[in-house]
Amino acid sequence: MLFPIDKKKIVYFIAKEDEMNQCIICKKYFKPDKFHPHQKVCKSKKCKREYKKTYNRIWWQRNPGYNNGKWTKKRAREYYRKWRKENPDYHRKYYASHPELKNRIREAVKKYREKLKLKRILI
Ligand SMILES: [Zn+2]
Repeated sequence: MLFPIDKKKIVYFIAKEDEMNQCIICKKYFKPDKFHPHQKVCKSKKCKREYKKTYNRIWWQRNPGYNNGKWTKKRAREYYRKWRKENPDYHRKYYASHPELKNRIREAVKKYREKLKLKRILI
């Protein structure tokens, strides 16, 4: 006869071994991203969405009356447009004063194109 295995214990054991994080939404253990070792939510879309929702709520509670609570995408776009009108040369000036940026962008684009090429060959 097979006995039901206590899954939680096993998961916990594995987690301890591989230094995993526990998801604060679904309580499952997961391997954190190497760039975000303190990640609190696992990779599942459901948990991410849930976490974003709660985090947003907390943020709005912490910042009451932020733009009268009407900071929408539309308003953000309008704000940005207005800012662009007032600072039309900002980006050009910025690039001019940071010559190394151009090279960096060029290289990034090159890499991206190579990646695309590779993908096409693989497919
Ligand atoms: Zn989760």
